[in-house]
Amino acid sequence: MKNLRRIQDLECQRTKTTCDLEKTLEVIINDYIQKHDAVTKSEKVLHKLSLRTVNSNANSRANTKADDNDKDNNSSQTQIQKTKIAENSSKTNNNHEASHPKINQRVAISSEIKHQVNQRDQGQCCFRNSQGTRCINRRWLDVHHRKPIAKGGDNSLENLVTLCKAHHRLQHEFAPGSVSG
Ligand SMILES: [Zn+2]
Ligand SMILES: [Zn+2]
Repeated sequence: MKNLRRIQDLECQRTKTTCDLEKTLEVIINDYIQKHDAVTKSEKVLHKLSLRTVNSNANSRANTKADDNDKDNNSSQTQIQKTKIAENSSKTNNNHEASHPKINQRVAISSEIKHQVNQRDQGQCCFRNSQGTRCINRRWLDVHHRKPIAKGGDNSLENLVTLCKAHHRLQHEFAPGSVSG
């Protein structure tokens, strides 16, 4: 609570207005979402990338990396945010690795593709049951390769799909349902 009061003081000072607790919480919540929500982050990065593509001449896109784009914003908070995202994605990868045999050709999914997967799947499991109803899980998520790397699958957007842990396991054990991104 001490920190909450502190943030309230800082926000009053910053905005030169009286900031009540509700407003203070709103500020904190928005800040958290900006930093930790992969879907919000992906929207921002992909939007910046699309602007860059429009503004520059054709050949730059191949060389564009989502991480480079973050350098436009040089605040230390962005740095922390990037570190957190890197940690999160490496956790995801580790979890994913655990369910796949280690293959020499396996390469990390680029951050741009990860952002595209998050934007397309909106941070929700893509498993659909036989009635076509999509799984509602928005936590415990993995990124799954539809066609495994071992069988020639790659890290393209089309080959990647967000699945919750349970449906991810199911795909590897039985592959009974459909996963449509
Ligand atoms: Zn998988
Ligand atoms: Zn699921």
